[in-house]
Formats: sequence, structure tokens, C-alpha cells
Amino acid sequence: MHNTEVTSLTLLEALRCPACKGALEHAAERFRCPCCEADYPIVGGILDLIPGCVDEQITAMTAAWDSPGLDYDASIAQTAPERLRAIDAPLLAQCADGHKVLEIGCGTARLKQPVEQAGSQYIGLDPSLTLLRQGVARGERELIRGVGEYLPFPDGCFDVIIGGYCSFRYIQLDRLYPECARVLKPGGVLAFTLWNNWAFFCYSVAQSVRQRRFHAPRFKAGHCNDVVWPTREIKRLARFGFTVESILSTKRVPFASRLPLIRSLVDWEGYWSGALGALIGYDIIFVCRRQAGPGSRLPPK
Ligand SMILES: [Zn+2]
Repeated sequence: MHNTEVTSLTLLEALRCPACKGALEHAAERFRCPCCEADYPIVGGILDLIPGCVDEQITAMTAAWDSPGLDYDASIAQTAPERLRAIDAPLLAQCADGHKVLEIGCGTARLKQPVEQAGSQYIGLDPSLTLLRQGVARGERELIRGVGEYLPFPDGCFDVIIGGYCSFRYIQLDRLYPECARVLKPGGVLAFTLWNNWAFFCYSVAQSVRQRRFHAPRFKAGHCNDVVWPTREIKRLARFGFTVESILSTKRVPFASRLPLIRSLVDWEGYWSGALGALIGYDIIFVCRRQAGPGSRLPPK
């Protein structure tokens, strides 16, 4: 399939080499960067902009999300709709008429429709060909294969970047945040959701019991970005030029539905606000603004 059948012309013009950020040239069934001579193939109609210079961690993460049998929509369907509404709403609230919105870790482009309904123009990026193909099969066009650590876009081109559900969980945040700062316009918004570390621990315990696998889950998996101390995340975001404007945490406590006295206090309606709320909240939603100052900074060596 020719690339332009699945990707709009506007999107193609906005793409850059993810490695050197040079402009790309379209050559038959691939794209080429004349600056660093990198080749980017079109795989099954999807432009593959994962650069060859990625490290082992990115390669492993990409492979994990690319397993052919992966049915992400089925696993999302097992998530409570109230929870999805609660974690999606603050992200979608950032998308307004005329905004250019990038979703990093878009999966099958679940959020594309609500973003467009808000009047914004949507572009989705994900490392998983398996998931992107499922989105393309539904007729979605503005989907690119790529990774958050190497964004294939020019400086200052998006109004909003969103990371839906737990899509930032496996990305190297010290490399993602400066890339987000780079491609956002000054004053642009980065909004994303992470799990609270204790919440994921409880979820893992519940899954182990349900599946009768009685091994102790690790409290802090080294490769995941679950939040342990929210203030640490605020400081890291500040290091890369972001001001955290709000932190919202979902009010869910596992097993609380069996405790009548606190059941009414811990449903998916409403949020706990701020860093204190993020200590006890289940999902933690960060809404950050790129400072209009000197621009993006390079990640630490
Ligand atoms: Zn290049």
C-alpha cells in the first residue's frame, strides 16, 4: 500500500528524521533523511519512524508491545468505563478548537475521535505496529510508528501532547520530556497519566490471586514509571522546562467497595488534587505547561 493512502499530506509535510531532525524525502515505498542518510520504511501502509540508534531498553519495549496476538482493545474493555472517563477527561479538556494534538503511545488511536470532536487536529504515535495496524484497519490515517524518546517532528509544532492511560509507563522520561518540550509551542500543554506505585502493586496482587499465581509481585519494577513521590516528578518536569499546573488523582482504593463506611468516598467520580492527593490517588494525571522561556533542554548525558 502506498503511504499516502493511510497518511494525510499535512502530516507528511510535518515529519522530520527522528534521529537528526532533518527534513525527510519521500522515495517510493520509504522515506529517506538526506542529512544522516537514514532510511525509514513503510510497513503495511504505516510509516516506521523508529530510528536505528535506539538503545536496548527501547528495542525491548517495542518488541513487547509488538507481539502479534496482542489485543489492546480487549484489555482496555476490561477497564472500568468510569476509570477511563476519569483519566481521559483532564487530557481531552486540553484539546480545543484549532489545536494540533499529538498523542504519544496512541495504541489503536482510542482517543482520536474525542480529540477531533473537540475541534483539534490529531496525530498518533506508537511503537507497536500490531496496535497501529488495528487502528489503520478501522480507517484511521494520522498514525505513525515511533517512540517518545525520538519524536519525528520539528520544533514548536504542537499545541498539546497527551499520554493516555498508562502510555508513559515504559518510556524513558528523562528523554521523553525534553523531546516534548522541543516539539511543543511555547506555552503548550503536556498532559498524561501514570499509575501510583502502590496502586499497581495492589493490582498485581489481585491479578496474582485471580490467576492463582502466588508469587510476590515486585513493589517497584525498575523499567516502569509508576509514581512513588509526586514531588520528584514535578522537579523532573521543571528540569526540562515544564510547570506543573495541576495534579489530579483518581479516588480509588482497592477492596474499598467492601468497606461501606469509606465506599462512598473512593469512587471514580471527582479527584483528589495536588501532590498530597497524588500520594494516595490511584491514577495520577499531570497537566503541565511548557515555559515560554529559553526553550527545550537537552537530556543529561
Ligand atoms: Zn536524519
